[in-house]
Amino acid sequence: MLILHNASQVVTVAVNGAAHKAGRAMREIGVVQNASVVIEGEKISAVLPTNEVQITKADTVVDCTNKVLLPGFVDSHTHAVFAGSRANEFAMRLEGKSYQEIAAAGGGIVSSMRSVRSASKDELKALTEKRLQEILRHGTTTVEVKSGYGLDTLNEVKLLEAVKESRKSSPVEVHATFLGAHAVPPEFKGKQSEYVALIINEMLPEIARHNLAEFCDVFCDEGYFTVEESEKIFNVAKQYGMRPKVHADELAQTGGAEMAARVGALSADHLLCVNAPGISAMKRANVVATLLPGTAYFLGLPYAPARTMIDNGLIVAIASDFNPGSSPAFNMQMIISLACTQMKMTVEEAISASTINGAAALGLGNVIGSIEPGKQADIAIFDAPDYRDIAYYYGANLVLTIVKRGIVNSFSIWKNSEK
Ligand SMILES: [Zn+2]
Repeated sequence: MLILHNASQVVTVAVNGAAHKAGRAMREIGVVQNASVVIEGEKISAVLPTNEVQITKADTVVDCTNKVLLPGFVDSHTHAVFAGSRANEFAMRLEGKSYQEIAAAGGGIVSSMRSVRSASKDELKALTEKRLQEILRHGTTTVEVKSGYGLDTLNEVKLLEAVKESRKSSPVEVHATFLGAHAVPPEFKGKQSEYVALIINEMLPEIARHNLAEFCDVFCDEGYFTVEESEKIFNVAKQYGMRPKVHADELAQTGGAEMAARVGALSADHLLCVNAPGISAMKRANVVATLLPGTAYFLGLPYAPARTMIDNGLIVAIASDFNPGSSPAFNMQMIISLACTQMKMTVEEAISASTINGAAALGLGNVIGSIEPGKQADIAIFDAPDYRDIAYYYGANLVLTIVKRGIVNSFSIWKNSEK
């Protein structure tokens, strides 16, 4: 038995048997003052007022005095397997260079594709392992990782194998998504339908055969893949047991959100240009709206209409979109702060969005995302007495200790042992 003892606040984000929080309910995060959490094996067995807890029965007691406990963050949208940096492009943008000029200089998604194609699987694995350690250190206990910088069968498989092998290195739980339809690679320029056929006839069967991805994603947007192409890909992916997630309505309103509802997607992500029919369709089909404020921040673009979506009763999640081009960040505490200051979400809504609703975006709302009896013991311990400090001290990392599946990972110990 493990006891997380005497926290100033335990933010339970309790859902009482539900698997998400929609609309107004996102504000109810179940804060218990002066509380302790009892964990047996991999699971939470109780959240109790500290004066009702007997620590003598415990094998391990972690002193949480003046600390806040939250469910570990669930970052449900990242592109964390990549090689190379695009800091040079960032600098070019700041110098006023246009997208075309950057592309002409070898930048953009094709730059990441080249780096990935020339990297070995072991190199990608090592890069991913390092990132997973940092991701855990910043409070994320479950992360989704997409392929999508290989853009041919060999390299998409290589990326997903690197993800699969990197899992063993870190306590972070990793869920993989196949995103072959991230962009059309240069060798298929002007032959987009042939690339879609390659995804359907070669990539999906190969990835399914090796059991490399739980989810399938498509960049459904103007200049990328059409609604019709996306739907075709998803219908085949579903036959292989991969659940759809969609990059939808980011650059233009193309009907991506409605398509997400039609194909039964777990989530539609980005949604900067979503319209009212898109919102209604998502609500009817319980599609999670995953918003990625780090991308808007980094590119200096407008933010998704979070208030409209929450006020219309959608299940809203937030995620980092961690990727080398448009959001090189994985600190969910910073994403929460951006959600509050830039998308006008309340701190409570942002916490629901980064925990239980992130879990819902991965179909895991019954397993993780809240601190309740029976749930997996995935808990982040913050060096702050009040949960609002997490959004308030923006850019900081307040995480001290992570419990993942009932195992304690203390970062002060980690740092010493790594020297
Ligand atoms: Zn993305």
